[in-house]
Amino acid sequence: MLTETKIFCGCPTAFGAEPNTQTCPVCIGMPGVLPVLNRRALEFAIRTGLATNCAISTYSRFARKNYFYPDLPKGYQISQYELPICEHGWVDIASEEGGHKRVGITRIHMEEDAGKNIHEEKGPYSLVDFNRTGVPLMEIVSEPDIRTPAEAVEYMKKLRTILRYLGVCDGNMEQGSLRCDANVSVREAGSAGMGVKVEVKNINSFKFVERALAYEIKRQVKTLEEGGALVQETRLFDTQAGVTQSMRTKEEAHDYRYFPDPDLVPLVVDEKWIEEIRASLPELPDIKFKRFVKDYGLPEQDAAMLTEERAMADWFEEAVKAGATPKAASNWMMGELLRLLNKKNLSIEKSPIDPKQLVDILKEIENGTINRTQAKEVFEEMFNREFHRIYDTSGRIEVTLPAPKVAMTARQIIKEKGLVQISDAGELEKTVDEVLSASPDEVNRFKGGEEKLMGFFVGQVMKITRGKANPKLVNELLGKKLST
Ligand SMILES: [Zn+2]
Repeated sequence: MLTETKIFCGCPTAFGAEPNTQTCPVCIGMPGVLPVLNRRALEFAIRTGLATNCAISTYSRFARKNYFYPDLPKGYQISQYELPICEHGWVDIASEEGGHKRVGITRIHMEEDAGKNIHEEKGPYSLVDFNRTGVPLMEIVSEPDIRTPAEAVEYMKKLRTILRYLGVCDGNMEQGSLRCDANVSVREAGSAGMGVKVEVKNINSFKFVERALAYEIKRQVKTLEEGGALVQETRLFDTQAGVTQSMRTKEEAHDYRYFPDPDLVPLVVDEKWIEEIRASLPELPDIKFKRFVKDYGLPEQDAAMLTEERAMADWFEEAVKAGATPKAASNWMMGELLRLLNKKNLSIEKSPIDPKQLVDILKEIENGTINRTQAKEVFEEMFNREFHRIYDTSGRIEVTLPAPKVAMTARQIIKEKGLVQISDAGELEKTVDEVLSASPDEVNRFKGGEEKLMGFFVGQVMKITRGKANPKLVNELLGKKLST
């Protein structure tokens, strides 16, 4: 969870600090210390439960899950067991056969993270970093509704989108903010029961989820078809070899000797507070998606991409509010904007160009100052110059004009780059005549019915005018000349 401090103490949770600099007696489990629940962690769990259609328990409890591991100094993990905070929810995912598929959520419970063992390659020892010990986690447990690796990935992506909309998790799988433990079982086609389940633990990317599950399904089918038996166990996915490997035989719940944590009182949540949290939820991705299709007339594919990230959807709506037509805003965002952001490895939140600046460029296309090709040039120039102005003052970035002190308008860039499109009919007519008299063969073939040669003529005019000709006018002039 994206809280500033840990779940039972005030230590910071920021990622990437020097080892063991974010610890205190509580989170490293010194004798006699007492945990105090972080109210924000509870709020985040409730937010997530509400957004995934769960019932929120007004009475829940923390339990001790007992086991020994060097990264768990207390000898037990504080978790929730028989009374979790959220139960009986669901999310809808895009189904492979088209339409939607509902995946049930069994429960969401809160718990604390363990530390991290670092196995040094050099020495005969391992190190432990306790910075992560006590960072609040939510474990979201789904019903056995998922049938293929692709559905598992869809489900993970949907959860990640929801968590990011809610602001309760940054969804960063590389930093371990979102991890997947997948239980896999196979059964004969048509049979109702579930086979022996095997847990593939700690998968940390969507790609690996898909690959690990595909491998594990194949392995289980092969074992059964060869007459072997599966054992309930925990396996790890070896990302190098592309196989799962047994880590330990599966423990049962009773191995952990769960019991209510006597240091923490039962958790009683006020109904009024739950309703306050419900009222504070943002518009969720499914609802936003439907609204984008209905209100803006966007194709479903556009709406899906734009609503995957809340910041992306906000950017789009600001552009439309500033005067862009929805489809144009969507096309420019999916095309040029994403391309340039990816090139600079920036998220949409860090975009050097804001929605108003895109609209500024779109207006120059509308009023005929520049054509679409020129607009792309203006867009890239504006993007680079704004990037330079805002983030990179070292001058490492390539801009064809000096770094501006203030944001430049599309009109200024057009002027400085000499990009104004040629819309003077007299001037263009001369070029058109020039092209036609230089290509008598093509003219005859066109008149003989090869109409696709129009593209060739337009291309020639564009070449001579170095892309500056107004394409609409060029088409009109060519049409007129060639029909006589
Ligand atoms: Zn602490």
